[in-house]
Amino acid sequence: MSSTPGTLWLSNATYLNEKRRITVEFSNRETKITKNYDFYPVLFIHKSDSNEKLLDEKINLLGINSFKLLQNKKNIKVIGKNYSKLKELRCYFAKKETFMLEPERQFLLLNGWSYFDLFTLDADIPNKQNMFSFPLLLLEFFESPLDSLITNLRSEDKKAAKQLTNCLLLSNLLAIPFQKVPLKKRHQLEMLIQNSLFLQEKIFPTKDNSNIFISNESVRGRFQNLMELDFSKIWPKVIIKENIGSETNNCACCIPENIYSGNIFPNSLVSVRFLSDAFYYDSRFSDFSNKFHLGNSNKERRLARKAEFLTKNIPIGPFFFGDSYKIPIEDAKILQKEGFAEILPNNNELHWSCRNEKSFLSNAIEMISSKSEKINSNIESYEKIFLHQYKLNALMLLESDLNYYFMKQYSNLLNAIFNKVPNFLLDTKNQYYSKVIAESFRSKQQSLIAEWSEIMKKEGTRIIAIDSFCNKIFIQGEYLTPDFFLKKDILMPICNNHHADFYF
Ligand SMILES: [Zn+2]
Repeated sequence: MSSTPGTLWLSNATYLNEKRRITVEFSNRETKITKNYDFYPVLFIHKSDSNEKLLDEKINLLGINSFKLLQNKKNIKVIGKNYSKLKELRCYFAKKETFMLEPERQFLLLNGWSYFDLFTLDADIPNKQNMFSFPLLLLEFFESPLDSLITNLRSEDKKAAKQLTNCLLLSNLLAIPFQKVPLKKRHQLEMLIQNSLFLQEKIFPTKDNSNIFISNESVRGRFQNLMELDFSKIWPKVIIKENIGSETNNCACCIPENIYSGNIFPNSLVSVRFLSDAFYYDSRFSDFSNKFHLGNSNKERRLARKAEFLTKNIPIGPFFFGDSYKIPIEDAKILQKEGFAEILPNNNELHWSCRNEKSFLSNAIEMISSKSEKINSNIESYEKIFLHQYKLNALMLLESDLNYYFMKQYSNLLNAIFNKVPNFLLDTKNQYYSKVIAESFRSKQQSLIAEWSEIMKKEGTRIIAIDSFCNKIFIQGEYLTPDFFLKKDILMPICNNHHADFYF
């Protein structure tokens, strides 16, 4: 009879090319168990006539028995006898036409496993546990077990303790080995996108490098009683809810019936006829304002008007009675309601989201978001247990508890990643940058803030400043209109700080 080793953590995974298998190591401080799994990695190739022809030719060359082909909607999924065969095959194709992850990551993602996940052995079969617990094990490149290492660091060098813990957590989040964790948030988000693409069996569409105009919107001056609100947890929800994406954009299955369909992005352009003379208006969309300004005459008149009326963006105009122009649909609807313009029935440039298929972006954000929810609920129940058991001493004991520290760090890490999402989507350096995503995301941000601002204004609260990525918003006034967020089915922004006196 074998004794049960209790709980174990996934500590390593190694692909053996010749044996065509993955060896997974589960360990704790006393035991190390390895399990072998047969595994055939996959390579995705973009489906096109020329790629299919090339694939046919090269498979014949490399050995027809080494590959198995499966087709999905847009890609050919090539299952290889082993990884090296797939790498050989990949060499014949343009890199952007293919997509392949290292075999260990493929295996872990397909199993829903990752480094430092907690397991029990049930009848000798590893069974992943649905909880987070600090990995009590010895990693080969450290002298002492992780728990004593982190405990010591926490008293000697808090920053180092945090860095090391973050590496463990990122290894878990990204399904990559501890030693390969990238330090830059952009690279971490890129890896999360890769994981999402892989699980959805997609290849990233060709990168469109053109950037969009980003402004930092603040009113200059000295202000009293400002509230600083944090919107960073709202944007991931918006991405998921609106299914923002590039490959799902303007899909064939969800063509809007009319301009009032709910899946139309607010930056879609519609033609309007203006019904007023020497007319200007303030667009909700800074990217559009900027483009209009650069592409039309009367620049000085617009700039003078901006200075006179202290508008957020450069005004759009001047228009005269009967002029027609293509403007963002949300601007058009407001102008029509106010009687300044009428929407013309044709010549629209609509952008819409898909209601049937999740985009790889919203899929990736949802993976982080659900992880964050799970951890926060774990933290909550952990706190409850401590409070129940230790009453007044609970807080002090939690403070030094390693599991609690681990979960809290995870929650912080995921918040930091959320915080980076807007920046990441608008950053052309991002390997998965897409202009379509940048534009749809930005238009949703600006439309939501504009709508919210209108409602708050009626209650005497006004927006004073917005940072470039709309994570931080400074308002003057008390009323936050909770109903607005409730109706939109998104979280309320978090009030971070109250500033008695502030300069911009
Ligand atoms: Zn669709």
